[in-house]
Amino acid sequence: MKHRRGIGLAPSDHHAVEIDTVTLTTLPQWSVIYACCRACRHQTLIERRELARRCGRDMSLAELAKRLKCQRCGNRFGNLLFLETLPRD
Ligand SMILES: [Zn+2]
Repeated sequence: MKHRRGIGLAPSDHHAVEIDTVTLTTLPQWSVIYACCRACRHQTLIERRELARRCGRDMSLAELAKRLKCQRCGNRFGNLLFLETLPRD
C-alpha cells in the first residue's frame, strides 16, 4: 500500500470528520469507527459503547486513537481511526 491515510481521512466516498474535536457524544449515531494498526495493519470495528465505557464520552477521537492497543500485536503507537457512515433508512 503506497499511499498513507492520516487520522481522520475517511475513504473517498465518506466525508471526513474533525476527530480533534469530535467525541463519542457529538459523533453522529450512524457513524461507525474502525481502528487500523500501523504495525501489523490489523483492522477492527470498535464498539462505541465499549469505547465510551473505557474512556468516557468526552474524549476526542484523536485522544482515543492514542489509547488504542492492537488486539493482534499489542502495538499502541500510530494507530489510526477511520469513520464510516452507515446508510440511513
Ligand atoms: Zn497490530
